[in-house]
Amino acid sequence: MPRRHALLALVQCLYHISWVTATLLFSNLSAAPTPPLSPLALRPQASGFDFDLYSALPPASSTVSSNFTDLPDDCAQYIGPGKECTAGMYAAGVTFEDCGAPFTVCRCADATMSMDTVLDRLGRVPVGLRRFVGTVLILNSTVPHAYTMSNGDIHLFGDCAMDTWVHEATHSYDFATSSPHSSSAAWGQAILADTCVPDNYSLTNQVEDFAQMSVIKTYTLLYDGHLPPGFRADCMAQQLDFMDTLPLYAADALFGNTCAIGDGQLGVRHDTPPTTLDPARAFATVSVDWSASPAAALDLNPVPTSTPADSGARSGRQAPLLLPFAALLGLAFRAAYI
Ligand SMILES: [Zn+2]
Repeated sequence: MPRRHALLALVQCLYHISWVTATLLFSNLSAAPTPPLSPLALRPQASGFDFDLYSALPPASSTVSSNFTDLPDDCAQYIGPGKECTAGMYAAGVTFEDCGAPFTVCRCADATMSMDTVLDRLGRVPVGLRRFVGTVLILNSTVPHAYTMSNGDIHLFGDCAMDTWVHEATHSYDFATSSPHSSSAAWGQAILADTCVPDNYSLTNQVEDFAQMSVIKTYTLLYDGHLPPGFRADCMAQQLDFMDTLPLYAADALFGNTCAIGDGQLGVRHDTPPTTLDPARAFATVSVDWSASPAAALDLNPVPTSTPADSGARSGRQAPLLLPFAALLGLAFRAAYI
């Protein structure tokens, strides 16, 4: 879940790329000018993402092995007093049904998310994005947040919702080459040509806006071209068009039944085809009666009239924390940003 505003950031799942990581990433672009990693001066359409992404994403089943004699360095260096994991850590090799190359998942013993939750949510990250993900670290926090390293490793703290997983996997994809899409001139021009971004967290910089737009694009592909309820396309049309220029954001690639897509993408970290290819795992859009709810008229509806009450529970959001703050703010925080 993205940052909302300063107060709500206390209870939301934060997306972020650490500034150290960002500096390292962009310092490697010797020929590129310093990217404008500064806040965007556009209007956010919402304070955050409250739509249901989880239930629309088809899960990929998985098998787990634990044949590590030692923890991988990517995990072991985060264990110890004052570090991300102060308890023991377990490393697992996770093989999903749509990919023959296992993913390494390291779970701190006191991590908030269970391994079952991790397998479920990682398995729902579209395979086109998931194939770029490096080692996944699962850690404890009462405040869900996450970050992605320039090597594709993702660290998730607390109970991170599905949009956070897709957001971070998008960073892994974006950072997989020395020319991130989010630092391209075309992406910068698209932002300049638009008047809005999806939400408050998108305003952080164009890297975060790209990851948030990836979540939006994933949603629209799942929901047959519809934007999430309350969002409209016209003020961010150039950003949406940019996403359409990326071959990955074609449904067959993003939601295929194999990580061996063969689309020529550089930096793919898992591209071994599954032992058994399940032809039944074909992509299908989610059928929704959009006419049944005015709020679901999405791209035609300029003002969100409600926040879907069930999205938090179904996507594993931190409802127990969000609700008291929502009550505190008179449930008005969302409308304030429209
Ligand atoms: Zn981010």
